[in-house]
Amino acid sequence: MTIRIKDYWRNFIDGEFVDGASGERIAVENPATAEPIAEVARAMPADIDRAVAAARRAFESRTLWEMRPAARGDLMFAVARHLGDLVEEIAAVECLDNGKTLAAGRNEVALTQRYLQYYGGMADKLEGRQIPLGEGFIDYTVHAPFGVSAQIVPWNGPLPVGARSVACALVTGNTVVLKSPEDSPLSLFLFAEACARAGVPRGAVNIVCGYGHDAGAALASHRDIDHIVFTGSVATGQSVLRAAAERVIPCVMELGGKSGGIVHADADLERTARSAARGIFHHAGQICSAGSRLIVHRSLCEDLIARLKVEAESRKVGPGIDGCDMGPLISARQLAKVEALCKVGVAEGARLVTGGGRVPGLKGHFMQPTIFADVRPDMRIFHEEFFGPVVVVTPFDTPEEAVAIANGTEYGLAAGVYTRDLKLAHWTADRLVAGQIYVNEWWAGGVETPFGGTKRSGYGREKGQEALLGYVQTKNVGIRL
Ligand code: NAD
Repeated sequence: MTIRIKDYWRNFIDGEFVDGASGERIAVENPATAEPIAEVARAMPADIDRAVAAARRAFESRTLWEMRPAARGDLMFAVARHLGDLVEEIAAVECLDNGKTLAAGRNEVALTQRYLQYYGGMADKLEGRQIPLGEGFIDYTVHAPFGVSAQIVPWNGPLPVGARSVACALVTGNTVVLKSPEDSPLSLFLFAEACARAGVPRGAVNIVCGYGHDAGAALASHRDIDHIVFTGSVATGQSVLRAAAERVIPCVMELGGKSGGIVHADADLERTARSAARGIFHHAGQICSAGSRLIVHRSLCEDLIARLKVEAESRKVGPGIDGCDMGPLISARQLAKVEALCKVGVAEGARLVTGGGRVPGLKGHFMQPTIFADVRPDMRIFHEEFFGPVVVVTPFDTPEEAVAIANGTEYGLAAGVYTRDLKLAHWTADRLVAGQIYVNEWWAGGVETPFGGTKRSGYGREKGQEALLGYVQTKNVGIRL
């Protein structure tokens, strides 16, 4: 099957699609074929200046802030409708620049529409407090916007990750400059198109694509931004935080993970194997909250590993456009990183059950679904994020030991529990240190459930009602009558 997309894409600044100031372009590759498919205008620091200035003007104009909150909500519903008109184009670009299947690309649109509708519906429900100060006073609080929100997005799910932050920012009256990921930038430009068609005020949303080291760094350290939402790796997050510290501006940090699922002795093995396999092989493991570790009761360890091996080996790995089960990694660089860490695992003495390297004979960046057993907590593969389809299995003997192993990394994004015993499920969930705990189904939750990290996985929450609180600051108004 072949699909065609536009071969040159421009940045969206101040309500218009524009070339980069330098005229340079970034080549976008199809990870399933390792061939170039399109070019985008490369945003440089001068373009970031222009986008921030547009967002500043839009904020200072007070257009969004002076709309009734319900009207800001209606705007999100309108963006969702216009996004629906672009579903086939978006599915095509998600397939071509990100390696997803067409069905997964369509699902990304449906998910993004849910975010827009969810936050659109909340626009008029963020209420302040009236604080009693006694006779002669009235006091109330307002959820005031920060101003210009700078948002930096990774390549694994740019559309829903970017759009949910934009929606939260707009319904609370902020304006946005978003840097799309250089490896898979295209779907966010179609989101910009939907914003323009829906009538989002000029300059309220600006979407630019550039490299992290210049455009990303220029945005994070810009003197005229008021707020940062960063989703990406810990190392980059730390450099963004240093820039934010210079100007003392607030950040939402959604960073990496090495999320572990505990499989207790009474777990339903068949269901656990299915859920655990989906938790690590979905989108080839390129999901921050992937279930990349399994901590399994010794009595059923080999049985679960055998079932997982069947799950892994039955997956058809290949281009998403051909309807395969598991697509490529995003780049040759990412594939090399995952393969190199697998070699470390073998050298450390972990048992390679299946996989361990690239898929032979395919031109794109395809990695085999991989399982490591006998993984000890002192091994690097226990601690380091693969961001690929690799799960490591560690046995345990007592529930206390399982919790200690699960909590034994520097990350704390997600964690899981598999058991038929509700009391044991609560006991374990209570002791796991992570932003979200999945019981008996990896990724149990949705748009409505708050999502974010503890420890080095970051702080602040996206999704759910909590997310909106990351985009506002409390302003108190005290009145002497
Ligand atoms: P990355 O940190 O390399 O890049 C993320 C974004 O930051 C990109 O847009 C990149 O251009 C930009 N960037 C790079 N250097 C920068 C700099 N110096 N200043 C400002 N911006 C810069 O991460 P990645 O490899 O693209 O994504 C994978 C990582 O993201 C993984 O660690 C994964 O766990 C994490 N992630 C987290 C979540 C979450 O919600 N917690 C979601 C998706 C991905």
